[in-house]
Amino acid sequence: KARLAPRHQRYAEVIAKSGQSLLAIINDILDFSKIEAGKLQLERIPVRPANIIDDVVSLFWERAASKHIDLAAYVAPNTPEEIEGDPVRISQVLSNLVNNALKFTEHGHVVVAVSMKSGGDAAGRDCTLEFSVSDTGVGIEEDKQASIFEAFSQGDQTTTRRYGGTGLGLAICRRLVEAMNGEIGLKSRPGKGSRFFFSTRTKMLVPAQPVRQVQNEKRAVI
Ligand code: ADP
Repeated sequence: KARLAPRHQRYAEVIAKSGQSLLAIINDILDFSKIEAGKLQLERIPVRPANIIDDVVSLFWERAASKHIDLAAYVAPNTPEEIEGDPVRISQVLSNLVNNALKFTEHGHVVVAVSMKSGGDAAGRDCTLEFSVSDTGVGIEEDKQASIFEAFSQGDQTTTRRYGGTGLGLAICRRLVEAMNGEIGLKSRPGKGSRFFFSTRTKMLVPAQPVRQVQNEKRAVI
């Protein structure tokens, strides 16, 4: 491994970080234009909701730890083992919400959860799944809440300077969720925190397993 002088190490880190945020912006713009052009195609393949939650938590675990924020996961016992959906796009929406939650939270916790809201009384039947991300962060002013899912909308003028971002993330999330036959929304109290949730209406392939339920509850908090 090449050793760098501390100053050069800092330069290298700045360059790497700039590269990453540039890539994130480019990806947002590409995604958004693809959706606007009507070229978004969703997959319908077997998805295990608990795995999605696990993957997203693993992805952000280190970042949460470095900010001293607890990142917890909860898979409700009624969550189907398997549904039909697009795992990449579900993860994308969830990651975006967790990323925001960590960005706008300085103390406390972020909880990622999934549960079944309705249906799913037998394999092959329709069911509605709800994912949510709650944080104890800065929250969002009531008059801003309605416009937060619009493209290029950010909390206020200081947001870009302080936190970066393009204001495209939630606009992309909303379109992806709508394409999954779902809805996205939020509840927030300024200074207290926010809870973002989205649903997807889809087919249940494998119902919640009784044995599995206990495991899920045991590892509720990671
Ligand atoms: P970006 O994060 O790129 O600015 P988003 O569309 O993801 O764009 O978010 C839009 C705005 O919504 C953010 O700039 C921020 O003001 C607000 N916001 C989103 N998530 C949260 C959150 N968990 N807590 C507080 N504010 C949030």
